[in-house]
Amino acid sequence: MINLEESTPFEDTINSELAIYYKRLFPFEDYYRWMSYRNQSIFQRREFAFTIIKNKKEIYIRHQSFDNAKKLEVEVRNLKPTKIHIGAMYNVRPTKPCYNNYFPTERELIFDIDINDYDDIRTCCTGDQICPKCWKFMALACKILDNGLRIDFGYNHILWVFSGRRGIHCWVCDQRARILSPSERQTVGKYFQIINGGKYTYKKVKLDNRTQYLISSALDMIRPIFVPFIVKEQDILGTNERLAKFLNVIYDAEDREALRSQMETLETSSQRWNTFVCYIENLLDKTKKEHHKYTYLIDEIMLQYTYPRMDIKVTETMNHLLKGPFCVHPKTGKISVPFSISTVDEFSTDNVPTIEILTEEMTKIDLEEGESVENINAERKNYKTSLDPALTVFREFISNLEYDK
Ligand SMILES: [Zn+2]
Repeated sequence: MINLEESTPFEDTINSELAIYYKRLFPFEDYYRWMSYRNQSIFQRREFAFTIIKNKKEIYIRHQSFDNAKKLEVEVRNLKPTKIHIGAMYNVRPTKPCYNNYFPTERELIFDIDINDYDDIRTCCTGDQICPKCWKFMALACKILDNGLRIDFGYNHILWVFSGRRGIHCWVCDQRARILSPSERQTVGKYFQIINGGKYTYKKVKLDNRTQYLISSALDMIRPIFVPFIVKEQDILGTNERLAKFLNVIYDAEDREALRSQMETLETSSQRWNTFVCYIENLLDKTKKEHHKYTYLIDEIMLQYTYPRMDIKVTETMNHLLKGPFCVHPKTGKISVPFSISTVDEFSTDNVPTIEILTEEMTKIDLEEGESVENINAERKNYKTSLDPALTVFREFISNLEYDK
């Protein structure tokens, strides 16, 4: 339980807005269509958890399960949670766990990417902030991961969701993915994890001559954008402090010093990068050794500065609860919206609808029709709101899932 002494104006109005949102817009039927996988028993064995705000305190309620969409809707409208968390499917209904005989049997394969894990490489923002420049890291992460999941693993049913604040969630929903054991999930997680080491590990990517398809296809995406995006826009060599940090990837003190003195005389990040690349390529040309210590250095640096950074523990376990799509982020008011991988470059976190905007849009429609949006007993109707693009993406994803089964 977290004490929220300093409540925000958002928290004061959230309950009335949530009441309207869950009554009028939240896609319960689509949730059921997705999570039943056309089998009601699968839905019934799914664990849900809720975060609710009561007396300025955040309360977490676990071990919930429901018969169908209607029962889920009744409870959600009753509790008005700020977050709906989705857990695994168990061998029995997870409502009353009997711990000897209670274990997860299925779980979507999930990936969680947070922008604060990019703090050691991005220069535009820090912490929970996310701007259009930061989103480019996220977009690239989506494309690399999506490509690997489809080509290397043959998965087709991948749902991408913006979490509402600083991250993205990937739900792989193919049946083959749902039945993976924890050790198989670890193998998949390790396959995708090539950035290793904490803040005291200067060189976080180590390649060898067995480089797999995942990395070569990632590099194909990264190489054309590395200079405009990382060298110029993020300006990673733009100050002497950044240059010193960058050169820590060179373990040989002599080379590092030679590079530093050459690069420091240059003004721009691009000039410094070009000098760096020439220096390394010259060394490789001179030695002609196949296993020179710098053979993969340029590629390793490009990967270190762009490759997806994932919280791999989320991927490796089955019983981790993850916030579901269409929840409201309690700090930003933004809805966690599904988005299409084909338009990920155009996605803007600034355009994600907030619960406030959606309430305004519904109120306007109701006023035009002579109704009150606050009449929560009124029948659900099809509002046209700025949530529509996300609902379309979600419904297309579900239709493909149902068609394929
Ligand atoms: Zn930024």
